[in-house]
Amino acid sequence: MIPKEVIEEIVARTDIVQLISGYVTLKRAGSNMVGLCPFHSERSPSFTVFQGTNSFYCFGCSAAGDAISFVRRIENLDYPDAVEFLAKRVGITVIDTDVHETRSRFDRKRMLEMNREAAHFFHDELFKDNPEAAMAREYLLGKRALARATVNHFGLGYAPNTFDTLTKRLRSLGYTDDELVAAALARRSEKTGNLYDYFRGRVMFPIIDVTGNVIAFGGRVLDDTKPKYLNTSDTPVFKKTRNLFALNFARGECAERLILCEGYMDVIAMHAAGFPQAVATLGTAITQDQARIMSRYTKRVVISYDMDEAGRHAADKAMKLLEEVGVEVTLLRLPSLPGVKDPDEYIRAAGADAFRKVLDGSQSKFDYTLDKILSKYALNDPQEKIRALAELREAIAGFPSSAEREVYIGVVADKFSIPAKSVREDVERALARNRRTYKKKEGETLRQSITGYQDRINPEFSKTPGIARNEETVLGLLLLDPTYRAALHRDPPVLTEDDFLTAFSRRVFCAVRDKIGDGEWEISALNEDFTPEEIGRIFGMRNRRMQLTENGDKLFSDCVAALKEAVAKEKITASDDPMAALEQVLKNKRSDTKGEE
Ligand SMILES: [Zn+2]
Repeated sequence: MIPKEVIEEIVARTDIVQLISGYVTLKRAGSNMVGLCPFHSERSPSFTVFQGTNSFYCFGCSAAGDAISFVRRIENLDYPDAVEFLAKRVGITVIDTDVHETRSRFDRKRMLEMNREAAHFFHDELFKDNPEAAMAREYLLGKRALARATVNHFGLGYAPNTFDTLTKRLRSLGYTDDELVAAALARRSEKTGNLYDYFRGRVMFPIIDVTGNVIAFGGRVLDDTKPKYLNTSDTPVFKKTRNLFALNFARGECAERLILCEGYMDVIAMHAAGFPQAVATLGTAITQDQARIMSRYTKRVVISYDMDEAGRHAADKAMKLLEEVGVEVTLLRLPSLPGVKDPDEYIRAAGADAFRKVLDGSQSKFDYTLDKILSKYALNDPQEKIRALAELREAIAGFPSSAEREVYIGVVADKFSIPAKSVREDVERALARNRRTYKKKEGETLRQSITGYQDRINPEFSKTPGIARNEETVLGLLLLDPTYRAALHRDPPVLTEDDFLTAFSRRVFCAVRDKIGDGEWEISALNEDFTPEEIGRIFGMRNRRMQLTENGDKLFSDCVAALKEAVAKEKITASDDPMAALEQVLKNKRSDTKGEE
């Protein structure tokens, strides 16, 4: 366990605005700061940072918490690692007092060390004096024309085509079979139970996170074996949907733009040619998480995908996800050159300067859409022309800026030789319809959050919403004001865990009573026992009570009384008298539907 004083010190020394500014662009709004939420996709900011209480709250998705829960969420770290992350920032050394408590973290560290050993092993294998290694070198240094320095920079390697060479090596370093399997470096044969290496006969690309840890690998075959690429499956230290290849190098170079490529080799070729802003997803289409991660580092992304059917489809998806997080997207269009299919070949044929010009002149989303739609329809046919116009109208309505829409309306009017006015009317109708759909969706989300429908954090909430709301009111007041908390330590206490019906509220109550002292930011003490999502819920309880401090005393005593009454009723219901039980059920129903707030 990390001593409480150390946590307090770390949280007190962390400037939450400065911390969050590293990930989110914040603007002042009154006494608080607001920005676009890094945990859900939105266009207008509902993510609020309260400097006074060192906390954050998103009015859109209810993400909330302190510096520690922010880091847990955004860096995908468990509790001890998040504490260490913040400790490093403010220059405090954390010494853990209990090894058993941090077993999972110990495993994480070992897994990262084991991955690093594996990366060294693959790299050494690449330069061994044997025919297999020579073939791998020929692929990287010959066929792909990489410099030796590039191979070293990316830590590329080779996994020999043997049964268990890596497994034996890692065992000799003291790693257990279970650890090897958990890290997805080896698999267990179903027939014999023996371990065998997961990557065999492949050129290896280590995947490194932004803090420099080797978290996974991608492996490419040298012949036509399928699959061509094999990637580490998700492990305790790796989620493929939340990482990007080469972001560790690109992160410091991409203020102007990031280049999103399809594969590892494209990325490596670009870096080698002087474009260290290139990254790639890890063998899957881009995800929301990846789009959000990119938006933390840059405001502009150039998509460099093959423009075949599959590539266009992937580009459409990437464009949509990136725009949702406020990133401007353009598409790379390679000038046609004989024998040139991808950026790697283009750079080799035309040179880095020519490629830079291509990057600068990459195609806007509108031009790309216009091209795509125009190529789909035969415009000399009136019916087809109308369909093309309908698609363009929808596309233009999708642009959030009215100035931009106006420009595109002009372009389309020219192109089709029709008055701009009629295009504009069509676009406006589409806009109005989109707004209605959006409102409807938003209302639905809000309704679900209010009624507790699909409540994963407190699944019992919807069973007795009236009582559960009272519980949250009481907890909110307890979190907000130390005088209420003091009342829990009186003899007899004003409230005990037995007064709570839902298990989640009960758990929060015990933590509040036992862990929080009388300081404002001590809510940080809850990080140890709750997930970041649960912390969000707990902060929400507190924040909802902030406006109600004036009649707080009455509210508190009313809710406490209501809880005690509800528990008493519950006891009768559970007793043996069937008549009393029935009566109670009916009464409960009535009081639930009243709604206490
Ligand atoms: Zn949010």
